[in-house]
Amino acid sequence: SAALVWFRRDLRDFDHAALHHALKSHERVYCAFVFDTEILDVLPRRADRRVEFIHGSVAELDAALRARGGGLIVRHAAARDCIPALAASLGVDAVFANRDYEPAALARDAEVADRLRVLGCAFRDFKDQVIFEKSEVLTQGGSPFSVFTPYKRAWLKTLTDFHLKAYPIDKYAGHLALPPAGEVLPSLESLGFEPTNLAELGIEPGMAAGRRLFEAFLKRMGRYKARRDFPAVKGVSYLSVHLRFGTVSIRELARAAQEAGGEGAETWLSELIWRDFYFQILWHHPRVVGASFRPEYDKVAWEAAPALFEAWCEGRTGYPVIDAAMRQINHSGYMHNRLRMIVASFLTKDLGIDWRLGECYFAEHLNDFDLAANNGGWQWAASTGCDAQPYFRIFNPVTQSERFDPDGAFIRRYLPELAKVPDKYIHAPWTLPPIDQKLAGCQIGSDYPAPIVDHARARERTLARFAVVKGAD
Ligand code: FAD
Repeated sequence: SAALVWFRRDLRDFDHAALHHALKSHERVYCAFVFDTEILDVLPRRADRRVEFIHGSVAELDAALRARGGGLIVRHAAARDCIPALAASLGVDAVFANRDYEPAALARDAEVADRLRVLGCAFRDFKDQVIFEKSEVLTQGGSPFSVFTPYKRAWLKTLTDFHLKAYPIDKYAGHLALPPAGEVLPSLESLGFEPTNLAELGIEPGMAAGRRLFEAFLKRMGRYKARRDFPAVKGVSYLSVHLRFGTVSIRELARAAQEAGGEGAETWLSELIWRDFYFQILWHHPRVVGASFRPEYDKVAWEAAPALFEAWCEGRTGYPVIDAAMRQINHSGYMHNRLRMIVASFLTKDLGIDWRLGECYFAEHLNDFDLAANNGGWQWAASTGCDAQPYFRIFNPVTQSERFDPDGAFIRRYLPELAKVPDKYIHAPWTLPPIDQKLAGCQIGSDYPAPIVDHARARERTLARFAVVKGAD
């Protein structure tokens, strides 16, 4: 009997639920990846770091599967048509895949399952990219959690060694089937994409690179809690892009954190739990795509301010911490978590701009873009989400900058025009006296913008804007 494993956001050949189950139950197992035209054709840029990352990871996965006696069948087509066609031509009796929880992916998978059924072929999907999914962690009353802390408590209580156990592949690898003769990997160019600056940034795709990053992080995991909020230091793991495309295994990461124990590891595990938390929010409340988690917050009237939005996108707000963060995402596709919170708060609470515009900008630019986490993060910052920042808690961008980039090291990395501005003024350079601006070679208004908004006044406007939801919580 033959089966097909359809790889999507799980580009690895170890600890892989669908691959494990297919190999265990079938004598011949084909593997496939589809560069889905329905996803790729709507990407706004032809130089996209995610596509290059996937392309590199797919090439590595193919080599790894070939070393085991198999290989990847790679297609550039609409997956909903291509997978049933492939299943028919290979004569498999089942297609195996790991579950995806995004509404568009769920609709696609339902359609593929229907089409396979007509062919007499089963569609079997598995939990793989999270530790707990759907309704595996519920309140005592049996409803989904919408507050993180009790969710985390229940998550930890539910966890057993079983949930962190790897799905072995080696034992059954002999069942891997060679792709039909003549299969070649498409080049990035043939997919219609150009190379990006990934290599220059040192962002390496694939399992081996994911493992190197993880091993390096393990050595500093103990200091995670103390260092994770400071973008200038190497405090966090930078594993998000690998988690996004499944070049690392969530079970292995969570297991390592559990085994290490201690403050740093516990705090890091908590972040992995946030990841599960937002996945289950999206699963139970798919309406959060496009709408506030708390419906009454859709009454908030946001500003139409295209020039201010453009200044935010391009890192020209006059607030160094915001501008450095936006230049980080524009240059690298990554932004540190503390900075994501600060820029999201600035867009929604200082500029009064709809969180959906910021969410969309992040979706287009983040290497680790993930619908559940991104939507959760934006709705948290905008106060419209579950367990969100209350609307009257408004980050002061200058204070945040002073706390989390005290000597301006991160700011100076991305804003060379502020290189010579003294530490005392780096967070609010408009307060630098004109004579000192001259000395620092940075005239505010010409070398670096004056602030586009006054924080104190913006704060008042935001409190007034959110008055429509007063008492709704
Ligand atoms: P680490 O600090 O090392 O954390 C380890 C892992 O835990 C991360 O890789 C990630 O998978 C998970 N994680 C950490 N924090 C969160 C969180 N708050 N919610 C969900 N998972 C988390 N994360 C994404 O993966 N994709 C996104 O599109 C995304 N958009 C965001 C948008 C906003 C406005 C905010 C405030 C946060 C967003 N995050 C997103 C969460 C977080 O910022 C990133 O996961 C983190 O910065 C990635 O860096 P890291 O891998 O070094 O994280």
